[in-house]
Order: sequence, then structure tokens, then C-alpha cells
Amino acid sequence: MAPDTINTLGGEVTVNGRRYRLPKRPSVVVCIDGSEPGYIERAVEAGRAPWFGKVLTEGTNLIADCVVPSFTNPNNLSIVTGQPPAVHGISGNYFLDPDSGQEVMMNDPKFLRVETLFPSLQRAGCRIAVVTAKDKLRGLLGKGLALGPGKACSFSSEKSDKATLAENGIEGVNALVGLPVPDVYSAGLSEFVFAAGVKLMERDRPEIMYLSTTDYIQHKHAPGTPAANDFYAMMDGYMARLEALGCGIVLTADHGMNAKFGADGKPDVIYLQDLFDGWLGKDKARVILPITDPYVVHHGALGSFAVVYLPDGAADMTGKLKVVPGIEAVLTKAEAAQRFELPADRLGDLIVVSTKHKVLGTSAARHDLSGLTEPLRSHGGVSEQKVPLIANRPLAASAAGRRWRNFDAFDLGLNLVA
Ligand SMILES: [Zn+2]
Repeated sequence: MAPDTINTLGGEVTVNGRRYRLPKRPSVVVCIDGSEPGYIERAVEAGRAPWFGKVLTEGTNLIADCVVPSFTNPNNLSIVTGQPPAVHGISGNYFLDPDSGQEVMMNDPKFLRVETLFPSLQRAGCRIAVVTAKDKLRGLLGKGLALGPGKACSFSSEKSDKATLAENGIEGVNALVGLPVPDVYSAGLSEFVFAAGVKLMERDRPEIMYLSTTDYIQHKHAPGTPAANDFYAMMDGYMARLEALGCGIVLTADHGMNAKFGADGKPDVIYLQDLFDGWLGKDKARVILPITDPYVVHHGALGSFAVVYLPDGAADMTGKLKVVPGIEAVLTKAEAAQRFELPADRLGDLIVVSTKHKVLGTSAARHDLSGLTEPLRSHGGVSEQKVPLIANRPLAASAAGRRWRNFDAFDLGLNLVA
């Protein structure tokens, strides 16, 4: 087993303009997908999460702002780069590529405009482990790493059986973890991430570990419900094991989650493409939903953030949109880029945000809601911006008055806790 002495010389790295001390002990950052404030607290109150209970009182317990759009990819990339999307370029899960004119997933590492923290930390001597639930994030998170035994690994639960030394820096993942490949729509997909994290820490003791789950449970179950408490009880056990292995642990979320349905239990949707078709003519405007991804069963591609491309010469539509009930904000490209720290070249002409309990769709006919077995819970807006930022050690430096962001997670873990 390697000693935890990489920082004996007090080394540090600077990445994207921020300074990070090299870890004295294994440093684990966990992104709990969709962990709205309240999930952890309700599980603690129910007596299901004793490790979290101890950490909330004896460690660091903060509320942070995530990046808007409050979606998975922009926020995961912010956490691992320490910067907002204006810097790293990942503005959604999905966008209209101005180079090709095609609507594409933003999973391709070519869209990432800066390095993550991981290559710098690796060059400074840290071994790195990155484990995600869904494979869609793996390429982005692992970009620039020299993969291989004793160096770094990067793999997903979803494709754990496909992991190879060449592609992922590890093989035989299922045998190591002792679990088969989980169903992509299950709590098991996230449990596999934690189980793998514990096994990797026991076997390889990487100095830096990033674990990123999926929000399958949070999309379906509110804080304090039995399924949610089961999920956090499961996580609690794995976190206790990582702590027993000597790890410093920071937990945050990529975004919160809110109920988005009406009194009838059906999703409360504003269909923007249908509105624009009525105002401008069919398909004159183009509505893009950056929540879109291949795994739509739990949200039907319905979130609280949309971008709209208008035809040349179109009248100002802001006034028309603003009076639609449930619209929280309508911003021009420049206004949105400034307010939400987004890359202007990857936004449409208008950016639309819906209120806490409403979602935005394209056309009613284009959303398959048959997979929604529970009333819709989703995210994307300003209403899902508050997330936990928790560490298992107390805050050492005085940081009063600071606006915490979820992408301060590595700063907190490496620089600011005892
Ligand atoms: Zn997410």
C-alpha cells in the first residue's frame, strides 16, 4: 500500500487560475446527482444515515449554488474544472452545434475547452480514479488522463463490463466490485459507483477520487420518502467505509430537484415550440432543450431551461413570453451569458427559465411521457440552484460571507478543511 505522503514537500498545482494543495490523505469528491437540500437531512432524522448525521454537525455543512442551467453535464464539468461553463464550454447535455447546424449531445470531449484538475494532479504525482454512473460523462471527465494501472482509471457503472486497460485504465471491474452490471434505470447504478470507490480505495489507494452518481431516485422520490431514505442509507454506509480508510470526503450535487406536476398529477408543461409556431409560423423558431439525453425515461426530456433560435428578422418575442404563466425569466444570449456565466457561442437567441413547479417542452407531440411512472420531478432552472456542500472535516479557514459554489468542492477538500 502506498503511503499518504505525496504532500511532504507542500506541493501545489494551479489549474484554470485556481491553486490547489496536493492531498495529504486520499481526497474523495462525490457528486450526488440531483441531491436537493433536504434529502440528507430527512434520512438523518429518520435514523437511516448516522454517518451523515455526524458529518452535518461535526464536519462542514454548507449550501452552495450550482451552475444554471442546473443540469448534469455543465455542473459535473464545473466541479472538476473549478470554473463555470463560460470557461469550460459545456453549457448543457445537448446543444445546437453552430459548426454543423446539428443538434448533438455534448458528451464529446472535443467540446471541453480547458483541462480538468485531474491531468495536473496526475502530473504532480497523484493517482486518480474517476467513477461515474452513466457512461455519458466518462469521456469528458477522463479527458487528458494517462490511463493505466498505478496511474489512473476512468469508467462507468453502466459499461463496467466493457472496461479495458487501454480505454479505462482498468479491467475486471465487476470481479473487483463483486457486482454485475446494474440496470441503467436503477438505484443500483449509483450504488455500484460507491462500491467501486471503496474497493479501489482498499486496493489502489488513489490520492484523488471523483465519484458521480445518477439522479434516478431523486427524479422519482421526494426527500424523506422511503425510497429516498433507502438511497441515502445505502450511501451512508459506503461513506463511512471510505472515512474509515482515512479519506477526506467532500459531497455536493450537480443540481437540486423539484416537483413539476399539477393538481392532476400530470407534468405541468409549457410547450414552447407550440407557442412559437403559433406566433411565427410552424418551425420558424427552433426550441432546444439542453436536458435532452438518451436516458429520458425518468424525466421525458422536460426541464426548466430552454434555448430558442429565432429566424432572421423576427420581432422581439420577450414581451410575449414573459406574460406566459410559469415563465420565470426570458434573457437574451448576452444577458444569459453574463448572468449564468455561460459560453455565448453555444446559446440560442433567447434563454427561457420556468418557475419552480413548471417545465418547458418543445411540442406536446414530441415528448414521450410513457416512461413516467411517478409524478414528474425535474430540474434545470434557478429554482434548483441550491445544493449541499458537505465535508467530513471542519472548515479550517474562516470563509465567512463567501458565496459557495458546487465547483468549490476540490478547493474545499484540498485547501480549506483541516
Ligand atoms: Zn444531474
